[in-house]
Amino acid sequence: MEALKVGFIGLGNMGAPMAANLARAGCHVTGFDTANTSAEGVQMAAQATDVAQDADVVLTMLPNGSILRQVAETVLPGMTSGALLLDCSTVDVESARNVASQAETSGIQFVDAPVSGGIGGAAAGTLTFMAGGTDAGFSKAKPLFDIMGQKAVHCGEAGAGQAAKICNNMILGATMIATCEAFALADKLGLDRQKMFDVVSTSSGYSWTMNAYCPAPGIGPQSPADNEYKPGFASELMVKDLGLSQEAAVSVDADTPMGALALALYKQFVEDEDGLGKDFSAMLPRFSARSRPL
Ligand code: NAD
Repeated sequence: MEALKVGFIGLGNMGAPMAANLARAGCHVTGFDTANTSAEGVQMAAQATDVAQDADVVLTMLPNGSILRQVAETVLPGMTSGALLLDCSTVDVESARNVASQAETSGIQFVDAPVSGGIGGAAAGTLTFMAGGTDAGFSKAKPLFDIMGQKAVHCGEAGAGQAAKICNNMILGATMIATCEAFALADKLGLDRQKMFDVVSTSSGYSWTMNAYCPAPGIGPQSPADNEYKPGFASELMVKDLGLSQEAAVSVDADTPMGALALALYKQFVEDEDGLGKDFSAMLPRFSARSRPL
């Protein structure tokens, strides 16, 4: 069988290891990045249109929705009819739907498939993809999901992948804050952290943030807390995702007070405190150092 031709646009922290995994699995991968990055096994090109021209799949892994829209406008006209534009970035639902309709007009399939799993998952090929698009688009993307990840869920039509991603991360942000403030309260009540973990991780307060990614150093499985809160998942990326969920909530008139408060707290942590560059579980030392607001 002829090797799948993949044009990969955006080879940053996530994109570079994902592209390298595709090349390692036998895909013919060409890449383009405005910062002249590179990835193992990937032939880099001078322009986005060069990698899009003959590609069966153009995969984008970009910072945000407005850059995705610009890149889509540039590459869609030169893509082969019936090819697939597969966006794995985390962007606003509106941009995903906008690019889907641009693609449809150009006779190109589009799937939005943001990922969960971070840089570690990208390198190990164990990402989870949450995908939005047609059945045909999802089927075309599936072999790539199988190489780069361990699971892909077809969530619905275009935009559904982004919707799933921001809803998940809104729960994650709010839950991490709840877990951290509870640990800080337990400390002040004189409750041993290990006992707190033993009880909560097997009681109704359990969650992924407590059981799998415990924000208290030395407790539970290894997590960024055991590595001086080096990310992991940086607090500024949580600000981005919580911002996207609030944008989406405004656009459909959904009441999301916990998500709004989680965004405000992470913004404050990143912009006014020392949260920038720290894992999002570093909310625990932040709460530990504070008193009740007056
Ligand atoms: P990054 O900033 O490391 O990579 C983005 C890359 O896109 C950069 O190399 C940049 O030079 C390139 N780029 C920007 N504009 C471009 C353009 N017009 N044409 C071509 N290349 C361009 O970011 P990242 O951490 O790799 O994240 C990529 C996406 O994945 C983001 O949407 C992010 O929210 C999402 N994501 C990241 C993580 C994570 O842990 N880093 C986890 C899940 C999802």
